[in-house]
Amino acid sequence: MSLKSKYNTLSPRRERVAEGRVRAVLMDGAMGTVLMSRGFSVQTRFEEMNESCPDLIREIHRSYIKAGVAVIVANTFRAGDSEKFNRLGVQIAKEATAGKAKVFASIGPRGEKSDFLQQVRALEQEKPDGYLVETMMAWDEAEAAAQAVRKVSDRTLIVSFVPTLKEGLKESLQRLRQIGVDVIGTNCGRHPQESLAMIRRIASSDPGPWLARPPAGIYPEVLPPEEFADWIKKIANAGTAWLGGCCGTNPTHIKKVLQKLLL
Ligand SMILES: [Zn+2]
Repeated sequence: MSLKSKYNTLSPRRERVAEGRVRAVLMDGAMGTVLMSRGFSVQTRFEEMNESCPDLIREIHRSYIKAGVAVIVANTFRAGDSEKFNRLGVQIAKEATAGKAKVFASIGPRGEKSDFLQQVRALEQEKPDGYLVETMMAWDEAEAAAQAVRKVSDRTLIVSFVPTLKEGLKESLQRLRQIGVDVIGTNCGRHPQESLAMIRRIASSDPGPWLARPPAGIYPEVLPPEEFADWIKKIANAGTAWLGGCCGTNPTHIKKVLQKLLL
């Protein structure tokens, strides 16, 4: 069976996945490192490309949709308070999906100025299907971001931490659930092994649902798709429902994950 016809037969399942009615919800992989593989430097402010190269951003989203994902993440991770870059990011993602996948807005860490309200208000104007607060490195900052989202929106809310956080985890997870976070998880780091360990720590004090978007390694030294997908399978078997990739992953990794999850 050709890949194309195989994926065509998957669409009803993909629909169910998008609605959370099956065990796994497949999300996309990286945007930043895919742009770096196309020759853009790590110094590029990738969110400005929503204005300067929207076609390229749209094309990368489409390559993930072709790989079979149920959810793509808009290019708004470091858009900060810029109304323009936040709104463009969600608009481009929606154009790319054409209704075939859900669009989540990304909110990244800010360090000192943990005031996310302006960013959420900008994103909400474009009606994303949900919010992914990701790569969080501090509990209080994650809580501030979650509170800002809940002040403005009742859409699906995911909060995801780097896998190195340990102290204070149990109390923070409880506070996040009280704020109204729907899914809690981990992304980024150096290796999927860390993500699996973090999911096990979260699982020891939280009932779920959980998310994991592991890196494929430290770009450009990345795991081959097959090996990455084996790790995702282990993380799924640990009870993680929302799955995707972070730095170093590309549509080939995600396509392999979908194949493994369906086995
Ligand atoms: Zn990452």
